[in-house]
Amino acid sequence: LESNVKADDAQQVETRGVLLDLDGTLWDDEYQAIPGAVEAVARLRRAGLAVRFGTNTTRFAREALVERLVSRGFEAHPEELLTAPLAARSLLERRGWRRIHLYVAESTYQDFSGFELDGPQPEAVVVGDLGSAWSFERLNTAFRTLLEGAELVAVQKNRYWKTEGGFCLDAGAFVAALEFASGKSALLAGKPSPAFFEASAGSMGIELASLVAVGDDVTSDIHGARSAGARAVLVRTGKFKPSDLETCPSPPSAVIDSVADLPELLAG
Ligand SMILES: [Mg+2]
Repeated sequence: LESNVKADDAQQVETRGVLLDLDGTLWDDEYQAIPGAVEAVARLRRAGLAVRFGTNTTRFAREALVERLVSRGFEAHPEELLTAPLAARSLLERRGWRRIHLYVAESTYQDFSGFELDGPQPEAVVVGDLGSAWSFERLNTAFRTLLEGAELVAVQKNRYWKTEGGFCLDAGAFVAALEFASGKSALLAGKPSPAFFEASAGSMGIELASLVAVGDDVTSDIHGARSAGARAVLVRTGKFKPSDLETCPSPPSAVIDSVADLPELLAG
């Protein structure tokens, strides 16, 4: 596990791009940069690697996240930010679906500009994290739309998340309710869906084998990337706990103390 990322791959593929998780990887749960993270990202750029920032959050649109990265000292550009709503957008586009019903926070509506929203006979019901805006009526309307023939798209399927006030139900709980009631399986857009990593590599113009994903979540970041055919580096910051190394569904390509150690790891 401690071995060089390059050494674990028989094919010795050159790393050409890096997909960096945000929460727990580049910043902590108060959005303070992890020590050394800003310089690490700058070093990756100087080494000529393509850089992307990938997050499952459905609460903030791309622009807000880029602003936060820049305010913490990171160089970041809007086109480098990949979020679960943007992955959902590309999933919808690939399927040719234009008419959708959206169940996401209003702050992410702008990520779905150009789609026909809330019209008749939608092709997809798109579900993200609505938080306290969920009601029985809204959930039931989504359920009825699925029965009428729409497909279910999950922006993300996280079970819960942690707020200052304690743990909260995330989108996955509502996706699961709709799947159970409708008998339909959701198409997943965010991490750990392979579609998320394919979209990342695609946006860099590189093969998945040349992509290294970095994150603190053994399922979303590590298992997702490995399943898609990319390499994955686990950081010991954020939600990482030592027992993750025994329970992770796919072994990481490497484990490092924090993203600060990434440039050295990739330089071999
Ligand atoms: Mg994370």
